Amino acid sequence: MLPIERQKQILNWLNEEGTLTITEISNRLNVSEMTVYRDIKQLMEANKINKTSRGISLASIANVSSNTCTYCLKELNNRHPVQIITHDQKVEQLCCPHCGLLRYRDIEKNVSQIICRDFLQNTTISAKLAYFLMDSDFNLNCCQPQVLTFDTLKYAEQFQKGFGGVIFQFNEAVEEILKRMSGDRGCGCHK
Ligand SMILES: [Zn+2]
Ligand SMILES: [Zn+2]
Repeated sequence: MLPIERQKQILNWLNEEGTLTITEISNRLNVSEMTVYRDIKQLMEANKINKTSRGISLASIANVSSNTCTYCLKELNNRHPVQIITHDQKVEQLCCPHCGLLRYRDIEKNVSQIICRDFLQNTTISAKLAYFLMDSDFNLNCCQPQVLTFDTLKYAEQFQKGFGGVIFQFNEAVEEILKRMSGDRGCGCHK
């Protein structure tokens, strides 16, 4: 198994089970604890996981709020959220760009602003000017088909180089996600 495959597996387990110890991971992957440490170090540097007293857990678990996504009603984990501000000044929170685009489509005429974040830099950007990456080989653990947003085409392409996927601009992304959801209101959320 390549390090990137192990890391993906570790993130999947953490997503399903919450917390794991180094020993558990090393047993499951059948690699030394030293190897697990190296994998984990990289994930920690990328802010994907946290060390806790019981082992390691996904970083997002630390900032789970009680808010839920306006579209899919899943709990927001704040990793890659979207906000929609309506003409009557209501602020809607969406768990991820997937739900952001679908919600936008539902209430398009009432949307004053749609705001998302650059996935690499976490800066706030207008979704209408953002670049949308679908089908990348990176699991956000949110809604499928997954959408990631980037401030510039350059950042989107940088990420695409490592994780693959297809880049869209705002209107194309809305069309694409609608096409894929094919009228199904279900979000593909796991929780
Ligand atoms: Zn959602
Ligand atoms: Zn989502």
